[in-house]
Amino acid sequence: MRAKAEDLRRDGKKIAVVPTMGALHEGHLALVRHARARADVVILTIFVNPTQFGPKEDLSRYPRDEEGDLVKARPAGIDLAFCPSAEAMYPPGAQTFVEVRELQKPLCGASRPGHFAGVASVVTKLFHITKPHLAVFGEKDYQQLAIIRRMTRDLDFGIEIQGVPIVREADGLALSSRNAYLSPEQRLAALSLSKGLAAAEAAYKGGERDAKALVAAARAPLAAEPLARIDYVELRDADELSELERADQKAVLAIAAFVGTTRLIDNRVLGG
Ligand code: AMP
Repeated sequence: MRAKAEDLRRDGKKIAVVPTMGALHEGHLALVRHARARADVVILTIFVNPTQFGPKEDLSRYPRDEEGDLVKARPAGIDLAFCPSAEAMYPPGAQTFVEVRELQKPLCGASRPGHFAGVASVVTKLFHITKPHLAVFGEKDYQQLAIIRRMTRDLDFGIEIQGVPIVREADGLALSSRNAYLSPEQRLAALSLSKGLAAAEAAYKGGERDAKALVAAARAPLAAEPLARIDYVELRDADELSELERADQKAVLAIAAFVGTTRLIDNRVLGG
């Protein structure tokens, strides 16, 4: 892959990379289409990265369908797919990790220790292997996007990072590979995340700026849903992810909740 990327660069091609863990859905395909419109060569990576899963998380049962993924990705506009094995990515003795010290602490970083070090490190490796000019990520994983932007800037990767808005089902549920784990009842219960965000946004549009009130509006549908268990609901500064008492500046309202054993995330940017 690295040799191929070097050839493409030598030929003056603009390379875009779309990193994923596979089990592709329309959210992933939106990233591919975004990349397609902005580069000569689009590389899709599919790698279920073991270092970003905790010991009690769903690594072994994470949905995998490489052939089906390629069937979906080709018409969306990929030129190359890079699907390495875990052994190829982490040879014995691998011990170097990238950490974005502050941005990795709150929200998902607090509930998933080590997760973002795994993400930042594997994305660094994928960048070095695919040598992109442009890399495309979803705003669905808001903290991840913030971390990758900061890492790219701090470490002078010289890669443009672009975010793509969250793709949702018609009823509001954010698309996620993990939605495949949900039973029909759980699928309905999962709507409480997007309902919470919609309620908070309605309050915001009505002039509410107090963080506690916005968070309370977002929590209500989750608290009323017996199949859902809140991990966090927080209002944070959109760039620094620092705590806010008021949404007077651009802010992100971020939710993580368990529905059954499935952990789902969603977010909405307010203002800015
Ligand atoms: P994943 O395969 O879950 O690691 O996701 C790969 C990329 O797709 C990440 O940049 C995600 O943010 C993005 N992504 C996942 N779901 C969505 C969605 N519903 N809308 C937009 N982007 C998404």
